[in-house]
Amino acid sequence: MKQVVIRRTVRSDAESILAPLTAEMERTAKFPREWASFAAAKHYFGLEIPRVWGGAGLDAVSACIVIEEVSRVSPAMGLCLSVHNSVAAQPVYLYGNDAQREKFLAPMVKGDTIGTFCLTEPNAGSDASALETTAVREGDNYILNGTKIFVTNGGVSGVNLIFTMSSSDAGRRYYSLFIVESRHPGLDKGPPEELMGMRGNPVCSLSLHDCRVSCENRLGGEDEGMRIAIATLHGGRIGIGAQAVGIAQGCLDASLVYSRERVQFGKKISEQGAVQGKLSDMATRIEAARLLVYRAAFLKQKGAEYGKESAMAKLFASETAVDAARAGVQIHGGYGYTKAYAIERFYRDAKVCEIYEGTSEVQRMVIARALLK
Ligand SMILES: Cc1cc2nc3c(=O)[nH]c(=O)nc-3n(C[C@H](O)[C@H](O)[C@H](O)COP(=O)(O)OP(=O)(O)OC[C@H]3O[C@@H](n4cnc5c(N)ncnc54)[C@H](O)[C@@H]3O)c2cc1C
Repeated sequence: MKQVVIRRTVRSDAESILAPLTAEMERTAKFPREWASFAAAKHYFGLEIPRVWGGAGLDAVSACIVIEEVSRVSPAMGLCLSVHNSVAAQPVYLYGNDAQREKFLAPMVKGDTIGTFCLTEPNAGSDASALETTAVREGDNYILNGTKIFVTNGGVSGVNLIFTMSSSDAGRRYYSLFIVESRHPGLDKGPPEELMGMRGNPVCSLSLHDCRVSCENRLGGEDEGMRIAIATLHGGRIGIGAQAVGIAQGCLDASLVYSRERVQFGKKISEQGAVQGKLSDMATRIEAARLLVYRAAFLKQKGAEYGKESAMAKLFASETAVDAARAGVQIHGGYGYTKAYAIERFYRDAKVCEIYEGTSEVQRMVIARALLK
């Protein structure tokens, strides 16, 4: 399908099916299962997974367009798709063997099972290598113990990608990655976090108490976990970049509508130079952010290196989303500070793009390392 058609279709579906649910999501913070069923039928849960495995078989740029258009209406559901697709389904497809793909990927792609990526812990955020969750081998099993926090999609997930420390030697630490089903004995979930934004996405903690999993649950080789985490985050940052572009576009579109309606000093505020300046700056930065995101996605789909480019895309797009939300609230004046307009929600939703999958400071570290190597 052509990318213009994908954009038009996803936008129209988001406006007709998802937009009417956003007020309820804000009020109750409940995950909209009816939308998830719709999204599953549209293959949104297997965006880049090849068709032989039941996915949509989209290229990386097209997958960005889907995440962007969903985020333009609901950043919380854009987040759900970005995490499920980029950092859960993708690594299961890329690093899993056929048995793991049959068992775990097939239901993920159908949307029967939503995935998570569990790296962050109470004492390991930006420094993921400080993680304390352990995996101790016992014959053909591993015993997992530890706590993961800020697990996006956690409240509704069926499978969870858990990063652990599997061994250490002379001060060096080695990590392994496991796929653990939510119903597995020894895995418990905490209640949803009370977040500033992204209401409707049940972000929670997840704890492992003597959770015994088979070697068949290990994704990738023993001690390969950190390599997989870093590679996966390179892709994930493209998804968050696309989410941020969608949020920024949502802010611009809402501001265009409002500024054409609101009359002050006898004319529409859209005719005021200062307002036009804000709209122009928003639009220009959004285009630049979009191009950075698509460029990183294009490099990814070509099989080229894209770690620096995905960090640049995520950094610029998330700062663009925060700036667009701030300008959007300003254009809406006092009404922008009320829940009557979507811009208030965008303002709260945008901020976390600068935090998850590596803060802006961490993106600058990744970029600087690539420049200076
Ligand atoms: C809504 C939400 C959803 C999330 N979803 C997930 C998820 O699904 N899976 C997951 O694993 N994690 C998830 N996270 C966690 C997120 O990735 C972390 O919050 C993030 O990586 C930052 O870690 P931290 O919160 O521990 O902050 P810290 O690492 O403690 O950082 C605090 C501040 O110090 C700065 N800082 C730290 N080290 C340096 C340095 N060396 N140089 C300069 N500045 C530095 C940071 O940039 C930041 O500004 C989520 C978080 C939120 C809020």
